[in-house]
Amino acid sequence: MTASDSSAPEPVLILGGGLMGLAIAHQLARRGTAVTVLSRRRSEAAGFVAAGMLAPHAEGLSGDLLTLGQISLGRVPSWVAQIEADSGLPCGLRSTGIVVPFRSAEARDHYPTAPFGEALNRNQLEQEIPGLAPQWRAGLLFSQDGQIDNRRQLMRALESACVDRGVHFQEGVEVQALLHSHGRLNGAQTCDSEGTVSVLQCSRAILCSGAWSAQLLPELPVFPVKGQMLSLQTPRGALRRVIFGPGTYFVPREDGLVVVGATSEPEARFSEGLTPHGQKTLNEGITALLPDAENWPPMERWWGFRPCTPDEGPLLGASPIAGLWLACGHHRNGVLMAGATSELIADLASGAEPRSDLAGLLPSFRWDRFQAVKTGGSHS
Ligand SMILES: Cc1cc2nc3c(=O)[nH]c(=O)nc-3n(C[C@H](O)[C@H](O)[C@H](O)COP(=O)(O)OP(=O)(O)OC[C@H]3O[C@@H](n4cnc5c(N)ncnc54)[C@H](O)[C@@H]3O)c2cc1C
Repeated sequence: MTASDSSAPEPVLILGGGLMGLAIAHQLARRGTAVTVLSRRRSEAAGFVAAGMLAPHAEGLSGDLLTLGQISLGRVPSWVAQIEADSGLPCGLRSTGIVVPFRSAEARDHYPTAPFGEALNRNQLEQEIPGLAPQWRAGLLFSQDGQIDNRRQLMRALESACVDRGVHFQEGVEVQALLHSHGRLNGAQTCDSEGTVSVLQCSRAILCSGAWSAQLLPELPVFPVKGQMLSLQTPRGALRRVIFGPGTYFVPREDGLVVVGATSEPEARFSEGLTPHGQKTLNEGITALLPDAENWPPMERWWGFRPCTPDEGPLLGASPIAGLWLACGHHRNGVLMAGATSELIADLASGAEPRSDLAGLLPSFRWDRFQAVKTGGSHS
């Protein structure tokens, strides 16, 4: 048992040191709040897996999810500037724009976010993406969407910014249980890599354990959607834009590395590793979109788990336990939404007034918004 040091301010506990955990810890520390991050395994975080597209429009989001994505996209430059200033490291933000190809102009015009993009015909598509396979006859260019090199730069910069701002890390520490009485949080039971079990007292914590969040709070409808990825090396500048095709995308980094993703495998649950079927799916996607890329040398292959919810929107704000805040379930748009989520949750947990546009979205992202559906028996 670990008693809290009565002379130091009680820290806010961050349960999970992935993308959301680091982003929220950083924002809290910037607000002068003491923070401790409890992190089971740094390398399993989807933050180190993602392609890093900042793509509310290319993803075809709608409703309040689109609004949240757009707010977060607008916040990205200042958010990244804070991280870069605190860490002294670049985050790899690039405004490459994203092109979405379609088989027909009709399909293009029916895309949910078509009004936000520039319509392209086949000739214009070829100018944007030389070598695009011939079946793609129309496109949308979202020049406001972009990308960030989460895997090689953003995560490392966030960690460094947190350390610089005095965030305390406990790496290799698993949170085993949340402790509460009369509906109010009072601690977390943890286990370190040597098997030592401790109790950390706390009255405020953020649940941001990614795809594993429901293991700590089973009421949460969060489940894993596995994704497999690979990267290819191209001559620098071979691809100018991100290409977001159905089922497959290409994300060109500054140095010529192209990230290709991603499978979407809810049935895999938490099964680890690459699979022949997953790799075949990626290869078929490459051929269908950009046949020239079959000749680009593969560099690396990896996988991870998206934290999904039944409506693919995050769970944000209050939880069933007072003092415990939620920042989980960002599914395939967590990198995009980290800027807005970290600001909102850091404000809530530090007692500050959140920005009204973000606060206004909280009802749409309550953790219990699915309950009516569940009791109606049509939950899938
Ligand atoms: C293949 C793939 C491609 C993606 N591409 C994009 C993209 O292009 N754009 C985009 O915006 N998003 C993308 N995403 C989504 C994005 O990566 C996630 O939404 C985001 O990383 C979620 O952040 P998180 O902090 O909730 O979870 P994670 O980053 O997964 O972090 C969770 C952390 O919690 C820790 N943890 C879990 N349980 C415990 C416990 N009991 N105790 C202590 N620690 C614990 C884990 O070890 C992990 O480090 C992609 C995801 C995948 C998998």
